[in-house]
Amino acid sequence: MDSVPEAPSPGGIFSTDDARSDRSTEVLAHAVAARGFMPPDEGLALFDHASSVGQQGIDGPWLEIGSYCGKSACYLGAAAEAAGRQLFTLDHHRGSEENQADWEHHEPDLVDPAIGRMDTLPIFRRTIHDAGLEGTVVAIVGDSPSVAAVWQTPLALLFIDGGHGTEPAHRDYEGWVPHLAIGGLLLIHDVFAYPADGGRPPFEIWSRAVGSGAFTEVNAVGSLRVLRRTGSGI
Ligand code: SAH
Ligand code: MG
Repeated sequence: MDSVPEAPSPGGIFSTDDARSDRSTEVLAHAVAARGFMPPDEGLALFDHASSVGQQGIDGPWLEIGSYCGKSACYLGAAAEAAGRQLFTLDHHRGSEENQADWEHHEPDLVDPAIGRMDTLPIFRRTIHDAGLEGTVVAIVGDSPSVAAVWQTPLALLFIDGGHGTEPAHRDYEGWVPHLAIGGLLLIHDVFAYPADGGRPPFEIWSRAVGSGAFTEVNAVGSLRVLRRTGSGI
């Protein structure tokens, strides 16, 4: 039986504290406290859907694009640890266009003064250490398309939350979605149906997945979209 609801659940939260292990509750507390861009209801939806992948026995590791300071990696990592899976999380740690100086999501203290460029890797490492996830979450430090080009292992879960410009988003879609196994989950963050609410590229790649015929819609929580691969192709 598929434990994931087919329709969006109100507020998106469908597991309760009582249903979780003490260890998952502990890791989720680290996720909530961590620095980054993941509201609690969407983060808990990430955790719940990732947990469902673990329960359904779809083979393969999980991969996140866009580690930043490790916040969403803690939500996914809590589920990965419980499921005995590895979560790879990929980032060059130099920030997206929208994280650079003078842009909306810039955080000046994340700039390495010695080189004048962003560096989120030290904070990411501390976050994963403090959450006790170093045995579960594996950082890949590099440029997404370069890593995608040499990746071979089918993925059971793919979470796309990297660069939100047109080219980065579509390159993440084209480079990584082919690696998602049948039955696996594709999660995309910052999908906004109305342009006034946010940038278009994450919505565009979500539309590509829906329009491909290879995916079934599973859930929508805030700007998080959840799809299951039910056929091949992108
Ligand atoms: N998931 C995070 C937020 C990610 S922000 C959270 O929970 O808070 C987006 C991240 O994508 C940034 O850290 C940026 O460095 C990374 N990124 C953008 N373009 C990239 C690329 N081409 N390769 C690797 N990482 C990239
Ligand atoms: Mg995001």
